[in-house]
Amino acid sequence: MGRRRAGRVWLVGAGPGDPGLITVRGRDLLRRADVVVYDALAPRVLVDLAPAGAERIDAGKRPGGPRGAQDRLNRLLVTRARRGLAVVRLKGGDPCLFGRGGEEAEALAEAGVPFEIVPGVTAALGAAAWTGIPLTHRRHASTVVLATGHPGPDRRPIDWRALAGADTLVLYMGARRLPAITRQLIAAGADARLPAALVQWATCPEQRVVQGTLGTLPGIARRARIGPPATLIVGAVVGLRRRLDWVARRPLAGRTIVVTRARGQAEEFSAGLREAGARVIEAPAIAFDPPHSWAVTDRALRRIADYRFVVFTSVNGVERFLDRLLRRGGDLRDLAGARLLAIGPATAAAVRARGLRVEAVPEEYRAEGVIRLMVRLAGRSGLRQVRVLIPRAAVARDLLPRALRARGARVDVAPVYRTRPAREGARAVAAAIRRDQVDLITFTSSSTVTAFVGKFRDRRLLRGRAAAVIGPITAATARRHGFRVRVMPRDYTIPALGEAIVRALRNSPSGTPRVS
Ligand code: SAH
Repeated sequence: MGRRRAGRVWLVGAGPGDPGLITVRGRDLLRRADVVVYDALAPRVLVDLAPAGAERIDAGKRPGGPRGAQDRLNRLLVTRARRGLAVVRLKGGDPCLFGRGGEEAEALAEAGVPFEIVPGVTAALGAAAWTGIPLTHRRHASTVVLATGHPGPDRRPIDWRALAGADTLVLYMGARRLPAITRQLIAAGADARLPAALVQWATCPEQRVVQGTLGTLPGIARRARIGPPATLIVGAVVGLRRRLDWVARRPLAGRTIVVTRARGQAEEFSAGLREAGARVIEAPAIAFDPPHSWAVTDRALRRIADYRFVVFTSVNGVERFLDRLLRRGGDLRDLAGARLLAIGPATAAAVRARGLRVEAVPEEYRAEGVIRLMVRLAGRSGLRQVRVLIPRAAVARDLLPRALRARGARVDVAPVYRTRPAREGARAVAAAIRRDQVDLITFTSSSTVTAFVGKFRDRRLLRGRAAAVIGPITAATARRHGFRVRVMPRDYTIPALGEAIVRALRNSPSGTPRVS
């Protein structure tokens, strides 16, 4: 053990909700934090950036919560830092804008604990950007006031005249008191016809926006049931939203899509859907584990030079097989004598990403296509006595090995992973379905359909739900389980599925009412 480090507290702004809006500095600090103390409004995925062993403390105190809670929290920061720990105090938005960051910094200064402040994108800026409302504009506004609409016993009284005098006013913590706030602004001289917008969950997939005038907004917000956290923007600039709202124009805006792929495989697909504006609920049907035994695979690895063909059937198969090869002291040259085949473009890409050449990708994914290709590659001698290795899941369809054996090939199937049902996400999916918010449930294989259905005790919930499937085999399984197949791409690939979803939903009426 080296000399004891000096502890320190970083007051870090997490940004308004979209995890991508934290600063690079904030993210780096989280990645090496010993302790993370986070608020209710700090996104959980950011807290998850901290090392596995880091202490995570939920300081989810309500705004305006009891004074004692804040004192306890300040003491906690001090004691952890004095133990020599790196403490990240993660706060929603910017730490020092209506976030009591100033008070926490005072407590640290008083205790002689070193601290730093890392700014964040505050709710006002997040809400402005994600609604297409520029807070200043050469023609419309040159002053902006950020204020709170929540006068508390320990807060300074609100100067309504000063607020009413700003070109653009952004009000935090005002959702519950909107009628009183607008009344007071109008009484202090603000024009009741000024455009105004209320933005709830800005930058999050759940973002909702209502727009009206200072006079009409409270009624509109009540009917749309907009509650906290919401930010109010008042001023002529709000009128620009009609032309600049890029969020509402994204093709999947207002859509909710369930992704059932396994963790570790779903990321790119989910990210693409989110990029197009969808709210994605991840409910992985299956998870991957190592096989019960590596014996068969290790035996194959010991005689790896004997194989003329290695056939990869999935990305997972590629990765786990090559990892095992390397872990056992082998290297990629051990595969020099084999021709590598990959079923499907994603599998082929995974092989290439590991620096290996793919001999060919069969034109069709069925066993016949693979065999036709292998026969062509094998030449006149055919497949008789030719050694073939297929690294894949412990339990999988036997069509390919059987068909190869029927042609005289000597096939070894090497189990490199095992699938098991995953539980997470079912509750979120059920809740969203009950609220009639789910536009599509996506399936990328037959086995995910079956495993996904297995997550639900009440199967009736799923009956008749719209599904997007990768191809005809998956479609048949989905129909058998009562889904209505609404989307299927022409190419049976994940990127094609994503594009087909965008095409199908882009212009069709939404199941979820869109608030504007
Ligand atoms: N420090 C935070 C503000 C905390 S006070 C910041 O800089 O953003 C809490 C208030 O912030 C909420 O009542 C709401 O008015 C606003 N707020 C925070 N996150 C928000 C979001 N995602 N969308 C809209 N308003 C938000």
